[in-house]
Amino acid sequence: MTKVIHKINQEVYSEDTCLIPTMGSLHKGHTTLFEQAKATPHAKIIVSIFVNRKQFNDKKDFDNYPIDIDNDIKLLEKVNVDYIFIPDESYIYPNKKILDVSSGAIGMQYEGKYREGHFDGVLTVVNRLFELINPSAAIFGRKDAQQLFLIKEMVNQFKKNIKIYEGKLIRETSGLAMSSRNLLLSDEAKKNASNIYKILLNTKNFYQNSKSISKSVSHGKTLFEKMEISYDYLDIVDVNSFRTPDKNTEKLLLITAGYVENIRLIDNLEI
Ligand code: AMP
Repeated sequence: MTKVIHKINQEVYSEDTCLIPTMGSLHKGHTTLFEQAKATPHAKIIVSIFVNRKQFNDKKDFDNYPIDIDNDIKLLEKVNVDYIFIPDESYIYPNKKILDVSSGAIGMQYEGKYREGHFDGVLTVVNRLFELINPSAAIFGRKDAQQLFLIKEMVNQFKKNIKIYEGKLIRETSGLAMSSRNLLLSDEAKKNASNIYKILLNTKNFYQNSKSISKSVSHGKTLFEKMEISYDYLDIVDVNSFRTPDKNTEKLLLITAGYVENIRLIDNLEI
């Protein structure tokens, strides 16, 4: 039986839980994480739904973020998670001081450069959820690759005994990375947005032939310009450091953020 809870009691706190934090408006990218959680050895699955004001640098973006709690609850009952945690803002951010987490130098690059304070907000809320729930494990999707990197770093740095599982990036059949923000796109824009994935695939292909990071990055940017899709960044990083690759790099990640109908869409591809 799925229970909707608004606060964490001692019973939930002391259970062996796997937490999946979300901002709701759930889609198949999320449900894949819930199914993955069921396959872990942890006794109970807890999904949180909280649209975290602190991670939005733009109030309009926060106000426009899609919310559909009734549908989310139905979906989560179907998946049969144990707890749906829907806290009030005052429970997450009470008047008393909570730890404000800083995301450091990497938190100011890429997403953090274009969305100032975003990752400080993400890490602060994730740490708060960890403190409240005391989970044994948590799952985060590779869709938000920089977020995943920073959360793993935080867990190491704070020496938290929480196992972090990674969920693979789930796409529409068109290639468009699934996202709650896709709900804000018209059908035509959705078609256009799938070109972002095509740019990544084409750039990957270019890299495999040229083996040049700088040429591949320039090539990818040219494709954005040709398709008249605006973008904030396109780059290739070391997936384990989120820095410029060097001779010790084992895995490269092509990362990007573009705009279609003024909706910001992020995507990435291992190359
Ligand atoms: P959000 O509700 O967008 O904050 O996402 C909650 C979790 O779901 C995060 O760990 C995301 O990385 C993950 N997620 C969102 N979209 C996808 C996707 N298309 N594929 C895999 N994971 C996803």
